[in-house]
Amino acid sequence: MTNEEYIKFFKENKSSNNKFHVRTYGCQMNEHDSEQVEFIMSTLGMKKTDDYTDADYIIINTCAVRATAENKVNGFLGILKHEKERNKDFKIVVSGCLPNAEKDLDEFLRLNNHIDILMGTANYNKLPELLYNSLYDKKTIVDISDQYDVESMDLNYNRMYNHKAFVNIMYGCNNFCTYCIVPYTRGREVSRKLDDVVDEITKLSANGVKEVTLLGQNVNSYGKTLDGNVDFSMLLKEINKIDGIKRIRFMTSHPRDISDEVINSYKTLGNLSKHLHLPVQSGSNKVLKEMNRHYTREDYLSKINKIKEISSDIALTTDIIVGFPGETEEDFLDTLDLVNEVGFDSVFTFIFSQREGTKAAYREDQIPHDIKMERFNRLLDAVNKNALEKNLKYIGKSVLVLVDEISKTDENMLSGKTDTFKTVNFKGDKELIGDIVKVKITDANTFSLQGIIDE
Ligand code: SF4
Repeated sequence: MTNEEYIKFFKENKSSNNKFHVRTYGCQMNEHDSEQVEFIMSTLGMKKTDDYTDADYIIINTCAVRATAENKVNGFLGILKHEKERNKDFKIVVSGCLPNAEKDLDEFLRLNNHIDILMGTANYNKLPELLYNSLYDKKTIVDISDQYDVESMDLNYNRMYNHKAFVNIMYGCNNFCTYCIVPYTRGREVSRKLDDVVDEITKLSANGVKEVTLLGQNVNSYGKTLDGNVDFSMLLKEINKIDGIKRIRFMTSHPRDISDEVINSYKTLGNLSKHLHLPVQSGSNKVLKEMNRHYTREDYLSKINKIKEISSDIALTTDIIVGFPGETEEDFLDTLDLVNEVGFDSVFTFIFSQREGTKAAYREDQIPHDIKMERFNRLLDAVNKNALEKNLKYIGKSVLVLVDEISKTDENMLSGKTDTFKTVNFKGDKELIGDIVKVKITDANTFSLQGIIDE
């Protein structure tokens, strides 16, 4: 049967009475994958519910990168097991990184025999077929290939926002950083064709999208799997030409692969947002080598200095892991020193955790928890101090804010982002959501700016 026939089947079999619930753990890639899952389920005629106890289909989009996310997935699966034992007639689909990361899949399935479908990150377009098969097959259906077929992928999404969108430009990763499970869960790198990406963004723009975030594990190696001389800077140039797209963002970058052409794009492309997220992970050359990152702190700082030479207004953010195996006090001080030298606008800080299946997990020189925590707190102090200093500089300035939503903490306030990815809260009518509004900054703290509409 074709996908169209599966869709017809579900619609004709009153699936419009069925509800689905999607629960997402992990990164923006997963959030975006969930948008696609929601679209597929709606295409089958089903309705979304935020209440899992009311759902006929529960899709758990999992993360295996962080232990906390994996624990939450296992906790939720435990709750669902009890629900199913009480004879509740619903289907459970587990997708995302965890199925591909499971070392002992048989044991996982034995413990979780209430799962109906287990699917990997590359299989979302097969969801209608898998759901159909699960109606007749009482055993868990397993389909966890990590081979993306970007040519045949039917990329449609239920977008979370009307004014901004995530767009996948590539899948997978070839890097094998020694702490990371992603290459094992999302497979080898494959890029979408440039024309396909540009077409998708052109359509998004026609539907009112003003901001796109290009997604990939390592966007700077975009194009390596494509014929011809296509690279990431060329893709940025083409997207910059699309009418209506006011802001182009991208994540994540690998410091080794960000080219001078991409760095120069901050000078030449008017719609490229003034924000670069460049994960450094450590400031110690010894640790960077052991992480298999393929750059030194000097390489990293040289790229950062090139960016700063273009404009001191470009916001810089990064990721840092504290307590990598064998990290000495001296290594950690190198990281602190780099943080202060760059003066990041913000840093995603992580405490190293052992991910089964990665090289670093099996090292014997793991850092004791109390030392990791102590370093983590010192790092956080430095990071927060830099962030506050950066944010205070905005006071008195007028900035353009793309308004995202009503503030989560105060329903009279709106919340949006500057071009530099700063969160701004200000009083305004909800009709402004999706607009770009001029706001005068009146106050700032470590994590956000406050302001008033600048008439
Ligand atoms: S570049 Fe390294 S950290 Fe990033 S996804 Fe690939 S292996 Fe993981």
